[in-house]
Amino acid sequence: MAHDWLAEDVLTEDQEALRDTVSDIARKYDMQYWIEVEESGRYPAEWVKELTDGGWLSLLIPEEYGGGGGTIPDAALFLETLNRWGGNGGAIHAQMYQMGAILRHGTEEQKQQWLPQIANDGLRLQSFGITEPDAGTDTTRIRTFARREGDEYVINGGKIYTSRFHQTDLMLLLVRTEKYEDVEKKTDGITVLLVDVREAKQNGQIEYRPIKVMSGHHTNQLTITNLRVPVENRIGDEGKGFRVILSGMNSERLLVSSEYIGSGLYFIDRAVQYSKEREVFGRPIGMNQGIQFPLATAFTELRAASLMRWHAAKVFQEGSRDGFYANTAKLLSSKALWNAANAAMDTFGGAGLASEYGIEQKFRAARGPLIAPISTNLVLAGIAHRDLGMPKSF
Ligand SMILES: Cc1cc2nc3c(=O)[nH]c(=O)nc-3n(C[C@H](O)[C@H](O)[C@H](O)COP(=O)(O)OP(=O)(O)OC[C@H]3O[C@@H](n4cnc5c(N)ncnc54)[C@H](O)[C@@H]3O)c2cc1C
Repeated sequence: MAHDWLAEDVLTEDQEALRDTVSDIARKYDMQYWIEVEESGRYPAEWVKELTDGGWLSLLIPEEYGGGGGTIPDAALFLETLNRWGGNGGAIHAQMYQMGAILRHGTEEQKQQWLPQIANDGLRLQSFGITEPDAGTDTTRIRTFARREGDEYVINGGKIYTSRFHQTDLMLLLVRTEKYEDVEKKTDGITVLLVDVREAKQNGQIEYRPIKVMSGHHTNQLTITNLRVPVENRIGDEGKGFRVILSGMNSERLLVSSEYIGSGLYFIDRAVQYSKEREVFGRPIGMNQGIQFPLATAFTELRAASLMRWHAAKVFQEGSRDGFYANTAKLLSSKALWNAANAAMDTFGGAGLASEYGIEQKFRAARGPLIAPISTNLVLAGIAHRDLGMPKSF
């Protein structure tokens, strides 16, 4: 069931058409498909292939580089629609927004070299290696080090929670080119490299260990030994990579918000339908306000988060890099999703716990967004500090 009134007023005719086309693709992969994928823990390769072949993953690459020339609001709508029909935008989203680092900070040669291959030749840019065992929330503490040797960087270190490393050809890697102890400003001395991992995976320069997590996410620990990367693969200036990743974070946050809103609406759709069909005490459970109110509350929260997300997408598209709206959209949408997941679980009762109803897998997946890619605490700490002018806690 689809609630047509969820098409916000902000959608253009083209975007409504985009949503309808994406819905048609997404609906081919039904609940049974996602139950099988999530139960087995495998990657949804067929779904990803169809989206790749249809050019959807290069939606944000400008037409001059062979991409779809879409806007951030288009991409937000695309990801929301996938999740709305039970899909998992997390399996592909990085491919969409990571190329933004090349687009915004790469040289013209880098754009010409990489973007058409990503757009048309199926070259995958699915991974971003930032987090390390001793550097999670505090990114400046990364230790993976790139030493310059002629025209190459030689890299040693390790990363953790590097998602989709099995499913990528390229990765953006955050390294230190100056040690944390040697820089005055802790965000200096950090550099972003575009790494072609195809060979490195085979020759042991990057070894990886899959980490099993509670939701349908494919993530890994990496050990990097004498990995050689040409200097020409550096994105942006040496030592100024923190700026490169910061500029991509707003788009990441508002795009993942869109997935959370889509997933939240999936829960609402499924639970509303079930509440009308399931009879207990001789009447549909949906007649009970104990069932109605949590769903209605979660729905209002999702819609409020959605409006904030559209505003975040609009100001980002217009060139603003103020993080308030994107961070707030992420905060509100992850909470709204979690509330929708719980309301759906209470509506389904025992059936919510049974895997065959397609709720419990999504319920587990709904918890992660409160923690990653940025935790609720850290969003609030940033707003308290930057927007309210309160003392910095870190
Ligand atoms: C499924 C999954 C996929 C991921 N994919 C990627 C990926 O592809 N690439 C990548 O680089 N990383 C990835 N990550 C890592 C993710 O970004 C980190 O988990 C996240 O940044 C938090 O870091 P941490 O887990 O080390 O938490 P820690 O930094 O150890 O923090 C632990 C807790 O303390 C809280 N905390 C810390 N400091 C403060 C403070 N000052 N005030 C209040 N609370 C605080 C945090 O909010 C957090 O809840 C992924 C993680 C997961 C779980």
